[in-house]
Amino acid sequence: MKITSITAWQVDLPLREGRYSWSNGNFVEVFDATVVAIGTDSGLTGYAESCPLGSAYLPAYAAGVRAGLAEIGPKLIGLDPTNLGEINRRMDAALKGHPYVKAPIDIACWDILGKAANLPLHALLGGAAQERVALYRAISQEAPARMAEKIAGYRAEGYRKFQLKVGADADEDIARIRACRAILDPGDILVADANTGWTRAEAARVVAAVADLDVYIEQPCPTYEECLSIRRRTARPFVLDEVITGPDMLVRGLAEDAMDIINLKISKVGGLSKARLMRDLCVASGIPMTIEDTWGGDIVTACIAHLARSTPTEFCFSATDFNSYGTRSIAANAPRRVDGGMTASDAPGLGVQPMVESFGAPALRIAA
Ligand code: MG
Repeated sequence: MKITSITAWQVDLPLREGRYSWSNGNFVEVFDATVVAIGTDSGLTGYAESCPLGSAYLPAYAAGVRAGLAEIGPKLIGLDPTNLGEINRRMDAALKGHPYVKAPIDIACWDILGKAANLPLHALLGGAAQERVALYRAISQEAPARMAEKIAGYRAEGYRKFQLKVGADADEDIARIRACRAILDPGDILVADANTGWTRAEAARVVAAVADLDVYIEQPCPTYEECLSIRRRTARPFVLDEVITGPDMLVRGLAEDAMDIINLKISKVGGLSKARLMRDLCVASGIPMTIEDTWGGDIVTACIAHLARSTPTEFCFSATDFNSYGTRSIAANAPRRVDGGMTASDAPGLGVQPMVESFGAPALRIAA
């Protein structure tokens, strides 16, 4: 089989809540996603989606997805999309870094492989390990009482895991964590995610002030070294996210006992091939994961569902149903949340049908 075309569409994803806010005053109101289709000489088409969390979260930005695809796309025409190893080696040889550009190519090729094998991706990623994937709800940064109210609302919809966006003023963040923990039941999970927003001193104050609470601390500071320093000052369970950029940082974190849990964002590490490697390493090392992405709609959610469904329950700390945060559906047969959980389709590949006719003219088309 050969790749004959690569097509990309720019797709706007407005938010149901109107705005998503996290540390350092950052927010997004309309997410900018790129949907990719890879055409082949077999007639099979693979799809994927890449959606950075704005431009100020990771070294990634929405227009960069399209610019990067224009750069590497011509070098992939004629390759066998079912040879995932070769596809990834060629992408890495053609462009240093930029994993969020390579992720949709890798994932669309996985979609083709699944369709060619007539198997769902969860079967190819290790086999179904759980039927229901437990979800967390991210609580956008607002005043403490408002965030507690939002948690109560999402709890009524079935969620039992919550990730508070903190990483602002330390005293206000302490109030946020206390207000939100107070309205939860024992057994409900609360993660305080600073998204790199605290200095070392601020983080030290916050972890000391919440030492009596059942709360997880996620990515308090920008660098790995700062996070490690805070990790050694707190007994709270500790999550690393932004600094776990690939297998190298995961191995370092494991060797240095830097975390109890990681956030495995599929586009941050370059797609399903690399995410699967890291997932397997985490399982072998006893590290649970939140399996998710930087953002996205129906196609990203389907991809998360397949990787999460093929991960044993005890190692799948949580996952994200990004398609329930937005107002726009971009693919048929995407996973839908039921009572704080979702599952992955048993249809071949990702099991979704992108509504390409609703996307308008492609932003990019490369053909043989
Ligand atoms: Mg995080």
